[in-house]
Amino acid sequence: MTKTPSDFDVVVIGAGAAGLAAGKRLAPSGLSFLILEARERIGGRAQTRIVNGYPLDLGCGWLHSADRNPWTRIAADLGFTIDKTAPVWTRQSLDIGFSRQDQAAFAAASDAFYARLDAASPEAGDFPATLLLEPGSRWNALLDAESAFMNGAELASVSVKDWKRYEDSHVNWRVVEGYGAAIAAFGAGLPIRLGCAVTLVDHAGAVIALETSLGRLTADAVIVTVPPPLIATEAIAFAPRLPEKTRAAAVLPLGLADKLVMTVDALDLPVGGHLFGNPDAAATGSYQLRPFGRPLIEGFFGGRLAHELEAAGPGAFFDFARSELAQLFGSGFAARLAPLSETAWASDPWSRGAYSHALPGHSDARATLAAPVDGRIYFAGEACSKHSFSTAHGAYLTGVEAAEAAIAARLAKRRLANPAS
Ligand SMILES: Cc1cc2nc3c(=O)[nH]c(=O)nc-3n(C[C@H](O)[C@H](O)[C@H](O)COP(=O)(O)OP(=O)(O)OC[C@H]3O[C@@H](n4cnc5c(N)ncnc54)[C@H](O)[C@@H]3O)c2cc1C
Repeated sequence: MTKTPSDFDVVVIGAGAAGLAAGKRLAPSGLSFLILEARERIGGRAQTRIVNGYPLDLGCGWLHSADRNPWTRIAADLGFTIDKTAPVWTRQSLDIGFSRQDQAAFAAASDAFYARLDAASPEAGDFPATLLLEPGSRWNALLDAESAFMNGAELASVSVKDWKRYEDSHVNWRVVEGYGAAIAAFGAGLPIRLGCAVTLVDHAGAVIALETSLGRLTADAVIVTVPPPLIATEAIAFAPRLPEKTRAAAVLPLGLADKLVMTVDALDLPVGGHLFGNPDAAATGSYQLRPFGRPLIEGFFGGRLAHELEAAGPGAFFDFARSELAQLFGSGFAARLAPLSETAWASDPWSRGAYSHALPGHSDARATLAAPVDGRIYFAGEACSKHSFSTAHGAYLTGVEAAEAAIAARLAKRRLANPAS
C-alpha cells in the first residue's frame, strides 16, 4: 500500500490535562500536530469559572501529591499562587454533630481500614474494597462516604488491587486563582480546534483518517485522551474495531463527584474548616468552610448520592446541603445560605463522570487501555495512569509519555525513509 501524505504527523484527541501535556511535548519536536477538542473550551475536567468574582474550580481543585506534582511548578512558573494550607478533610470543625470521642473512634477505624488496604496481598486476588471493612462497625458508612468522595464510587465497586497502586505523598495544596485556570493557561497558544468532536478513528489504511464534527482529516499517529465512557460506548469509534480497548474502558468507569458552592452569611465559621454532613451516613456531603477565607461553603458529593442529586435536577444539591447544615447548626442557619454554583459531571456528554476507578477484578485494565496500537495509536488520560489515576497530574504524565512515544516512533520512521537526513 503506498502512503499518501497525511495532514499532520500527530493528532491529539482531547484538550484536557493529558491532551495539553501531549501538545506541549509535541510543540518543540519539529512534528506537525493539531489538538481536536469537542468542547468550546480547553481543560476538560479541569475548569475554573469566575462566579461573583470568586475563581471556582468546578473539576480538579487540589494539587494532590503537590510536592512532586508537575502542575505545582507549572502553575507557579505561570505566576499562579500556590496555597500550601493543609486540608482537614477528615476532621469536624467545632466538633459539631460529631463528638471529639467519636472522631477519635472514626480515626482509629479509618487507620485500621487503610492498614488492611496496604497489607492486602496480591495473592489474595482482586476483590471489592467492602471486604476490608470490619463487619458491624459503626464507621463503615462514613468509610463508604469517603470512598465516594475519593473514588467517586462506594467501596463495593472499587478494586482493592487498583486502589492499592495509587501513590500519594499526602501533600495537598491549591492554586488560589484556580487549578483549572492554571491548566488552561498552560495550554494557551497550542494549535487547538475547538468544537471538533471526533467520531471515528479509521486506521485501516496507511494513514489514519479521522471523522469529526468539522470534517475529515488525516494523521500518521493519534493520541486519544478522551475519558473511558466515550471509548466504552463507542461515542468515538475505531475501524477496525479495538474490542480490547472498549472492554478495558468499560471496567474503568468514571465515578461521580459533584461540587456545590454556596455563599454563607456566617463569618464566624473557621476559615479552611471542614464538616461531614452526617458522620453516620454513607449518603452525606463533605463541606469545606470558607475556603481561602472567602464567605463560601463548598459542598462535595460523591457516588450514589451525587448521581441521585444530579438526576433530581438543578437545586437538589442545595436543598440537600441546606438540610444537612441546618441539622448541624440549627434551622436558622438555612437562611444564611444561598446557592452560587453547582456541577453536573455525570450529564456532561464529554466526560460522563468525574474520575476513574477500576471495578473489582479489573485492576489490569489501565495497562490494557494505555497500550499503544500498531505503533501509531496512543492512549493517555488519567484512567491510563497506573499510580496517579483519577488526578490531573496523572493525566499530565500519561500525556507526556504518549507524546514521547509518538515522537520517537515518527522520527525513527523518518530516519528509515530518509537515512541521509
Ligand atoms: C468534581 C471533580 C473534582 C476533582 N478533583 C480533583 C482534584 O482535586 N485533584 C485532581 O488532581 N483531580 C481532580 N479531579 C480529576 C481531574 O479533573 C481529572 O482526572 C483530569 O482533569 C482528567 O484529565 P484528562 O485529560 O485525563 O481528561 P479530560 O479532562 O476529561 O480531557 C479529555 C478531553 O477530551 C475531550 N473529548 C471527549 N470526547 C471527545 C471527542 N469525541 N472528540 C474530541 N474531544 C473529546 C473532552 O471534552 C475533554 O476536554 C476532579 C474531577 C472532578 C470532576
